[in-house]
Amino acid sequence: MQVSGAVALVTGGARGIGLAIARHLALAGASVVVGDVNPIALAELPSELEGVSVDVTDEEQVKMLVTGIEQRHGQINILINNAGVILSEPFVNIMHPDGIMHDYGDFRSVLTTNLDSVFIVTSAVVEHMVKSRISGAIVNISSVSAGGNEGQTAYSAAKAAVNAMTITWSKELAPWGIRTNAVAPGFINTESTRQALSDDQLKQIERKTPLRRLGHVDEVAHAVLSVIQNDFINGAVLDVNGGLRI
Ligand code: NDP
Repeated sequence: MQVSGAVALVTGGARGIGLAIARHLALAGASVVVGDVNPIALAELPSELEGVSVDVTDEEQVKMLVTGIEQRHGQINILINNAGVILSEPFVNIMHPDGIMHDYGDFRSVLTTNLDSVFIVTSAVVEHMVKSRISGAIVNISSVSAGGNEGQTAYSAAKAAVNAMTITWSKELAPWGIRTNAVAPGFINTESTRQALSDDQLKQIERKTPLRRLGHVDEVAHAVLSVIQNDFINGAVLDVNGGLRI
């Protein structure tokens, strides 16, 4: 698929991995809309990216976002489902004052942001693509944690489900000319990673990673661009993790 001239929506694209993907898409000639909930990051977006404030877990806000892009750009050809939150919480924590088990509210909230959002945004975009007979490419940002990461019950479950939806949609949407893939990063050197993990944990991850380092946001963006550009890649979950297995 030709990126130049395409219209792309990147959720959670105001910072971190999403921002790198948005920048690379724009550099390749796409018109890029970033849908994000972080007002500060949106205000600092580079001028080549169009920022829209949206909570991707809210169906009505997402429908308005997609209608707005249709009106301003005429079409959406590329969707990157990147918005997400990382949560580390042990299933059993005997030191926790309010109860030893993983909080169910936290579980639901992580699933809503990382999984429901992918369903909600993809539904709105695919409805537009199918009704307008537009072929397209969807890339879901998964994670190495989809394999079941110790201390990340909710996040691992959400990302495993994202992989399952990716494969399901690769079958259902292909007849409409829409390819669906996922890119599954390992540990990437972003602000959110540095906030979620201690220096010791980061060093341990580097030791466990065969390439002995964290990944760079540009390395994830390159992988996303290559699955978009290759018209025979469909239903893939592409690992970008330096060889790390969990
Ligand atoms: P960041 O937290 O740096 O960026 C995510 C962006 O998404 C933020 O601007 C965030 O806003 C926004 N966002 C969060 N919730 C919503 C929402 N409901 N609606 C709209 N926007 C929202 O994350 P990363 O760049 O680290 O991660 C991006 C993706 O990559 C995620 O799906 C993550 O799971 C995945 N990933 C990340 C890895 C890593 O090492 N960083 C490894 C593997 C996968 P706010 O700042 O307000 O939260």
